[in-house]
Amino acid sequence: MRLVPVGVSGSSPGPASPAACHLVEAEGTDPLDPGAPPRTWRIVLDLGSGAFGPLQALAAPDELDAVLLTHLHADHCLDVTALHVAAAYGPRRPAHSLPVWGPAGVRERISRAYEAEPGAELLGLPLRYLELAAREPVVVGPFTVLPVPVHHPVRAYGFRVTGPAEAGGADVVLAYTGDTDAGPGLLELAAGADVLLTEASFVEVEHGGPDLRGVHLTGRRAGEAAREAGAARVLLTHVPPWVDPAAVLDEARHAYGFPDRVHLAEPGVVVEV
Ligand SMILES: [Zn+2]
Repeated sequence: MRLVPVGVSGSSPGPASPAACHLVEAEGTDPLDPGAPPRTWRIVLDLGSGAFGPLQALAAPDELDAVLLTHLHADHCLDVTALHVAAAYGPRRPAHSLPVWGPAGVRERISRAYEAEPGAELLGLPLRYLELAAREPVVVGPFTVLPVPVHHPVRAYGFRVTGPAEAGGADVVLAYTGDTDAGPGLLELAAGADVLLTEASFVEVEHGGPDLRGVHLTGRRAGEAAREAGAARVLLTHVPPWVDPAAVLDEARHAYGFPDRVHLAEPGVVVEV
């Protein structure tokens, strides 16, 4: 299983990266069609503002197998509208309708953002909207994605993605937090993960500012959760353009305790899980 960060900017696109989007790839077979030959499977975790731009350099719409949205804030879902346009009118249209999984209301949310004609709600077009339920796994080829509820002001999930290891052998786990603050959901999500891809939006005490809780993690809280959950490696993402990523990284490394196992996710830099 390979992770390719596409957008690592938090809360909005930044000058060097779009908002949240991560591509996950693996070779495998289709459990629903065991006779078919193995191929490369691709799922997209979040498709936030601006992310469809660079995603096209990595995979065409007809090379994607599913899009999964952790929650319906703009910086995690808005570019599904761009994918919709390309999948409906571009030269690389999916052969079968592409599933877009998200929290309850995902179809209405994307339809409003697209400004679909009243009543049309993008029905009959190349994307198919499906609603996630807590701890009900979604199977896509060799991937199993478990949505775990996390701590954010709107309904939000983290994704625990199980899939084949690059080197063969036992399956590996990539845990992606989406947006969350610390809490039991985060620990359940990250427990024993091979890679924890965690948001880290703030530093703990930002120039004496308010200590905001219940929305996002700081570098320190991300590092503490990774350590408590026993995650083997940590990648930090979702740092807003106005926050110093080096300060976030420093906090997370200090809290986790093994600095060489904590890094900032970088767009286009492939990580083997
Ligand atoms: Zn959010």
